[in-house]
Amino acid sequence: MICDNLEQVRAAVRAAALACGRNPDAIKIMAVSKHVPAAGVAAAQACGQTVFGENYLQEAAGKISQLDPALEWHFIGHLQSNKAAAAASLFQVIQTVDRLKLAAALDKHAAQLGKQLDVLVQVNVGREPQKSGVLPEQAEELLRAMRPLASLRVRGLMTMPPLGREPEASRPWFRSLKQLSLHLAEESLFHDNEAVALSMGLSGDFRVAVEEGATMVRIGTTLFGERPINLSQDIEI
Ligand SMILES: *Cc1c(COP(=O)(O)O)cnc(C)c1O
Repeated sequence: MICDNLEQVRAAVRAAALACGRNPDAIKIMAVSKHVPAAGVAAAQACGQTVFGENYLQEAAGKISQLDPALEWHFIGHLQSNKAAAAASLFQVIQTVDRLKLAAALDKHAAQLGKQLDVLVQVNVGREPQKSGVLPEQAEELLRAMRPLASLRVRGLMTMPPLGREPEASRPWFRSLKQLSLHLAEESLFHDNEAVALSMGLSGDFRVAVEEGATMVRIGTTLFGERPINLSQDIEI
């Protein structure tokens, strides 16, 4: 079933890309595997999926240690600075950097590990008080402040826009993230200003995200089905 779901998402991403004149290979699919046991991740890998996203450090640590080291893991949850050491060692990419203190902690631990850590800056495009992410107007200042952090490579931006009733509701938010990325690239604030990553679009709105320039869509429910919401797991301790 997971293979069928993956095939459907791949086909839909491809179709959306071609329909708006984009190269389908420029868009990666992340499988969001929160609350999915290691066996589910392995099943997705057997269907060719290599990039996975996790929201909770402890849950991720257990799974990552059991699975093929060749898999690429992205952290997409809220991260506390005092968990930066574990995050820097477990993950290839941290997508949720939204403040200097966290960036500095990740940089320090990446340096200690002798590794260059790829990060995305999470932007709170909808200025929602309950959500993580730097405010759009403060993103430039954060990226400037992160410049001296020699063990981090700021690859691009990530966002989780306000929950809309329909996919079209996300379009203005995706567009604003793209606009912001263009501005920041003009200021040469990314590691590679010619290839800026934009992580946006979920099961419900990834087609719109592709149309608005996503380079990575983060798909959970469509691949793995509805998962039980366990509130105790939603708080990273
Ligand atoms: C859960 C989650 C997703 C996946 O959402 P679905 O609607 O299940 O596809 C993507 N990004 C983040 C940050 C998430 O927490």
